[in-house]
Amino acid sequence: MIHFVGAGPGAPDLITVRGLGLLRKAGMVVYAGSLVNPELLDFARPGCEVHDSASMTLDEVIGTMRDGFARGLDVVRLHTGDPSLYGAVREQMDRLMELDIPFEVVPGVSSFCAAAAALNAEYTLPGVSQTLIVTRMAGRTPVPDRESIRSLAAHGASMALFLSAGMVEDLCTALIEGGYAPDTLSALVYRASWPDQKILRAPLSDLPSLAGTEGIKKTALVLVGNFLGNDYELSRLYDPSFEHGFRAARESGPKSVTGEDARTTEGATGR
Ligand code: SAH
Repeated sequence: MIHFVGAGPGAPDLITVRGLGLLRKAGMVVYAGSLVNPELLDFARPGCEVHDSASMTLDEVIGTMRDGFARGLDVVRLHTGDPSLYGAVREQMDRLMELDIPFEVVPGVSSFCAAAAALNAEYTLPGVSQTLIVTRMAGRTPVPDRESIRSLAAHGASMALFLSAGMVEDLCTALIEGGYAPDTLSALVYRASWPDQKILRAPLSDLPSLAGTEGIKKTALVLVGNFLGNDYELSRLYDPSFEHGFRAARESGPKSVTGEDARTTEGATGR
């Protein structure tokens, strides 16, 4: 059996309990060496075969896993973050299907979740945005025209941009041309959850120069939206006047939080 396992964003203890269990039992690990934290390999048992896929082609990755399977090994294919995002995992699953090799997928903590955690942020703040757009700039992999940064920016939603930190100047230009105000809040989160994690915060118009000064070009996410600020409405979930399946209404009046209030109520709302 081949287990595609999400390794999480970097910190070794952000792999799931299920993923860790499989890693401990594996007879072969094929890991994406360019991004997966090698410390995770310490969890593998002595004698486990370890292959770095960073320099392999798809054929070589499949060949390695096929060989492990043929020798009766439990194979863990370790992908960074969650395999379903920019993981090139579908093509591997399809090949395994053609070869009649059984596999399963174990999800992981994506870096966009680790980046929000690093910022104490919530992408879906009431009164700000209820939508998160996960996308990327076109690079060597093209992006369909209908998903251009400009067209997605027109929604003004919260946005998490993968694989785009090396093009932050063009990115911010397109975001602003597409509809975000130049003073929309943004952040660049480098290596979220790693010991050398870095966070840069700036209005969209200033992010490129800040990123340039810090020399950050890869392993970073660009987050955009005023969810990074302090003006929002309190959620209905904990609103005393709002009744739901687990609680009856007690009093009336939804409230909003702005500026200083937001910061002073952080503890109370658990943000
Ligand atoms: N499947 C992965 C994404 C792989 S694509 C996931 O779910 O996170 C690789 C891109 O992910 C990088 O270029 C960067 O944009 C982002 N990335 C991966 N790990 C990161 C981290 N720890 N901090 C910030 N960005 C990260």
